[in-house]
Amino acid sequence: MIRKKMYIDGEWVAADSGKEREILNPFDSSVIASVPEAGRGETRRAIAAARRAFDEGGWPQTPAAERARLVFKLAELIERDHEELARLESLDTGKTVEESRWDMDDIAGIFRYFAGLADKDGGEVIESPVPDTTSYVMREPVGVCGQISPWNYPLLQASWKMAPALAAGCTVVMKPSEITPLTTIKVTELAEEAGFPKGVVNTVLGPGAEVGAELSESHDVDLISFTGGIETGKTIMRAATGNVKKVALELGGKNPNIIFDDADFDLAVDYALNGVFFHAGQICSAGARILVQEGIHDRFVEELRKRMERIKLGNGFDDDTQMGPLTSAEHLAKVEAYGEIGKKEGAKLLLGGCRPDDEALKDGYFYMPTLFSDCENDMRIVQEETFGPIITIEKFSTEEEAVTRANSTVYGLSAGFWTNDPNRIERVSKALRFGTVWINDFNVYFVQAPWGGYKQSGLGRELGRMGLEEYTEVKHVYRNHATKALNWFGA
Ligand code: NAD
Repeated sequence: MIRKKMYIDGEWVAADSGKEREILNPFDSSVIASVPEAGRGETRRAIAAARRAFDEGGWPQTPAAERARLVFKLAELIERDHEELARLESLDTGKTVEESRWDMDDIAGIFRYFAGLADKDGGEVIESPVPDTTSYVMREPVGVCGQISPWNYPLLQASWKMAPALAAGCTVVMKPSEITPLTTIKVTELAEEAGFPKGVVNTVLGPGAEVGAELSESHDVDLISFTGGIETGKTIMRAATGNVKKVALELGGKNPNIIFDDADFDLAVDYALNGVFFHAGQICSAGARILVQEGIHDRFVEELRKRMERIKLGNGFDDDTQMGPLTSAEHLAKVEAYGEIGKKEGAKLLLGGCRPDDEALKDGYFYMPTLFSDCENDMRIVQEETFGPIITIEKFSTEEEAVTRANSTVYGLSAGFWTNDPNRIERVSKALRFGTVWINDFNVYFVQAPWGGYKQSGLGRELGRMGLEEYTEVKHVYRNHATKALNWFGA
């Protein structure tokens, strides 16, 4: 069994109370690790360490090229330990190792990208309207950052925060989800090996209501960056008002995937499946809400059902597994409840809607790929994020109707649509109110492009240049080289 500690002010420590939390394997509920369960006291110490490293430790003044060197080094170490990290992520989350390997490729690339950007933004010279003056804008690190990540893509989400913060010259207190902390602990070990100065990186393990709440409330934290559910995001936003800290939120999504009659049928079916069943649907950008135009509706739904029947459930470590379990027993209960809600709301259940009837999977948190057709816009399974392997199908007639339905949600993370009509591509991509819009594709993201939500899907952007800017303050500097007396008052 793996036993780990947490990292505060350059030391690996246990919880003050000695309390530990068991980490379970979602495939069979066995205990795989034990980690400290900290509270507010340890979090305050980590914040104080990050504060000292920022205010007195010289990290923000370290030349950007030197910060970049350490972030590049961390990327190299992630590549060196790629397979170990991928296996650890699968053990902790249940996803297939193949998926975890892609995640690790991305993660190394994310550290490299932000390392590369660290010394590229030299600010801006302003054309001053006042004679004999100089005016320029510089970007400075925002300060101590509290970073709170979710359980579904544990290290990927942590890397979206950690890499730009370190590259920008901020210090970090990271709080991974208490359900899946193992890869974040491992990368903290790699950060120590890379040689980040004491206090620059801290990782505290414990419940959101204590560790997360302390990070959100603390007056010594300058920015809180959170990825997780909407309700937690709202709680954090309220908690952050005490010192008006900056708030960056990546919240949930209910992402429409619209299939028009003129779409390439086979590709649309293929990508619709990929859009939902990766990581058993536990993806903020899952295209779980599918809208199909009436001309191809029946054929599309039948083809989807046939291919869904063939999805192979199993252990993420087996080569032939296509979909692993859900990540926790609590989450399985939530997804099961949504299955029941769908049945009660009158959606037509075409497949699944239950746990698998397979002795080999009985100890894992498995839920069958589930297909509901005849769904209406106001159903809870259409409007709420089920975060599981559940597809809802709505039939539509016109382009206008599709866009109106797709936009009728409190979420605004991502959306996709399938068509071969160039004019429709222009119209619909403009009309959809989402942070990312995919045309003839789904669920694609890369570090070079910004990621984030409209409406209640969040505040701010991660990734891309904007992902680095989140971690900077903008300072305008103005210098007068020939200051003359004004003699306005009391001359
Ligand atoms: P969650 O909101 O339950 O928890 C996320 C994190 O917040 C955890 O680390 C948790 O311990 C912490 N937390 C809980 N209560 C807290 C509090 N009161 N104060 C501070 N921190 C607290 O979310 P989850 O179930 O771990 O993650 C799933 C959600 O994350 C889904 O809604 C999903 O869409 C969203 N998500 C969004 C993105 C994105 O890019 N927009 C990416 C991944 C996941």
